[in-house]
Amino acid sequence: MSKGFLLVISGPSGCGKGTVSKALLERNEDIVFSISATTRKPRAGEEDGVNYFFIDEDKFSTMVDEGKFLEHAFVHNNYYGTPKEFVMEQIENGEIVLLEIDVQGAMQVKKNYKNVVFVFLLPPTMDELKNRIIKRGTESEEDIERRFKNAFEELDFVGEYDYFVINDKVNDAVIDIENIIKAEKLRVKRH
Ligand code: 5GP
Repeated sequence: MSKGFLLVISGPSGCGKGTVSKALLERNEDIVFSISATTRKPRAGEEDGVNYFFIDEDKFSTMVDEGKFLEHAFVHNNYYGTPKEFVMEQIENGEIVLLEIDVQGAMQVKKNYKNVVFVFLLPPTMDELKNRIIKRGTESEEDIERRFKNAFEELDFVGEYDYFVINDKVNDAVIDIENIIKAEKLRVKRH
């Protein structure tokens, strides 16, 4: 069986990464989600071991020291990291592994790994982005401002990605990503 590849999806907070990823995973059995570890507190409805592995800072720093992360970063005041072992096993099994990570993490992956497809998800407009963060209603006012400010910094990295997808309608964004995957499966050369 041929090896799989990493599918990195980044985009500013509120662009709909979570919703798009969920729909993508539901429709495509050959894509597996890499569950990140984070020191962020769970939001209502989030489950440990499903959305994230929710851990404290001590555990996080031990995992960093032990080289357990494929990449890790400090994002919006919390630590996030991708557990390495799971990803490597899945790649060996020929799976496509979805990493929903921020731009700092994506740049680490770019430096250290081959066979990665980088997709940047964009909101239709920045006004819409802010509306979506507010509507989600899970963050404090201070956190909303921080996430919105960070969005502009993250947008500077679009040029580092292979593809951009505009998330106006979720279904259309999912189809765009499925088409990217189709193309990647037919790729002759990888960079
Ligand atoms: P949230 O707190 O909204 O779930 O995620 C905040 C940001 O952290 C998002 O941009 C998300 O993509 C990113 N993120 C989630 N998991 C990871 C990870 O394992 N590594 C990195 N670098 N970023 C992550």
